[in-house]
Amino acid sequence: MSFNTTDTSNTLYPGLDVSSLSWAEHKWVAWYVWWGNPVIATGMISFLMHEIVYFGRSIPWVIVDAIPYFRRWKLQPNKIPSPEEQWDCVKQVLWAHITVELPTIWLFHPMAEFVGMKTYHVPFPSLSTMAWQIAFFMFFEDLFHWAAHRLLHTPLLYKYIHKIHHHYAAPFGLAAEYAHPAEVFILGMGTLGGSLVLCFFTEVHFVSFFIWVIVKLFQAIDSHSGYDFPWSLQHILPFWSGAEHHDFHHMAFTDNYATSFRWWDTIFGTDKKYHAYRARVKAAKAKAATLAEFSKAEQEIANQVLAEGLKTEAAIEARLKKKSS
Ligand SMILES: [Zn+2]
Ligand SMILES: [Zn+2]
Repeated sequence: MSFNTTDTSNTLYPGLDVSSLSWAEHKWVAWYVWWGNPVIATGMISFLMHEIVYFGRSIPWVIVDAIPYFRRWKLQPNKIPSPEEQWDCVKQVLWAHITVELPTIWLFHPMAEFVGMKTYHVPFPSLSTMAWQIAFFMFFEDLFHWAAHRLLHTPLLYKYIHKIHHHYAAPFGLAAEYAHPAEVFILGMGTLGGSLVLCFFTEVHFVSFFIWVIVKLFQAIDSHSGYDFPWSLQHILPFWSGAEHHDFHHMAFTDNYATSFRWWDTIFGTDKKYHAYRARVKAAKAKAATLAEFSKAEQEIANQVLAEGLKTEAAIEARLKKKSS
């Protein structure tokens, strides 16, 4: 893809000095000039990135699920998703991307322009500016998600919206966005909100938001992977949630509402059952004489948590029935 600064379609960049651009900025300009319409160019690059990153990041987890060697690190080792389950999930997620996300992506550019976000513009912000802004987006999203996710566990919102995401009590990478369209919209506001808010205080470039969404997709898919490896990020950064944290939420239908970090669940006490579970597993490990004995005890504890979780889920729905009767 190339561009010509004297091209009549190139009204976005009058007088641009091409020699001053980095490789990435050059490609960015070429993309916008090639489309000739910034709304479509922003929408298309967002949609393509989302599809490539979402399915591209999920494929390694599909391969991991197919290799028995990795079961030793599976958080719920007896719950391996079948190829049929994974295919059903792909179809559902793809359908939602095309029917719900694709049209809403087209609203992004006008909204970004409205709050003053730079989109097709070059040069890009410095790496240090992008880094602190992405850190802010992450912090904002994590807090927003904790609060919105708690609300999604109230009877009405759970039954009509969030229950779909809890279809898998043992999640897998592809299931990260397996959710009701309203949930995708509500939680998507957390991903988007930080960048919109920040625009009122400082200059924000779409490229920072773009990189943040890639980071967010990796975080969401990996936290649904169902695997906790010794080299997983949470073992290096203890405040990182990771799969070990979110897998419990799916198994127990409660606790661990945040996405990236553990601190809000700790501060607001929404991780008590999770810690009790970890303590039981730790005690079982200390007591067991062999690995097989420990695996059996761990499985029993997980089965109890899952059974309690199903009761919790039923209780939420029962509260709704009581209210409406
Ligand atoms: Zn939930
Ligand atoms: Zn989830």
